[in-house]
Amino acid sequence: MSPEYKSWKEIPIAGVCWVPSTEYKTGDWRTYKPVWDSEKCIRCMLCHIYCPEGAIKYNAETDEMEFNYDFCKGCGICANECPKEAIKMVLEGKE
Ligand code: SF4
Ligand code: SF4
Repeated sequence: MSPEYKSWKEIPIAGVCWVPSTEYKTGDWRTYKPVWDSEKCIRCMLCHIYCPEGAIKYNAETDEMEFNYDFCKGCGICANECPKEAIKMVLEGKE
């Protein structure tokens, strides 16, 4: 190991989440909210694959992409990766 890096035994203990991630709702971190456009969407599922929170799922019964806003942090990756610009990031409360 390079001398400028400390081992994990030397660094101070960091903050640790005290509940499972399923109970720690991160949606309130969000500033911008992804808003989905059904007309533009081609159901390619790229947003589902790229979302780091697993917050986008396809509902086969309704043929809709569903966003779980309890966990969506508003990172905008889904909007960035969507090939059809079917997701717009909108200031929270202005959607
Ligand atoms: S990435 Fe865009 S086009 Fe593909 S499923 Fe998601 S919203 Fe629809
Ligand atoms: S904004 Fe980020 S966290 Fe929210 S649905 Fe899109 S990719 Fe997932």
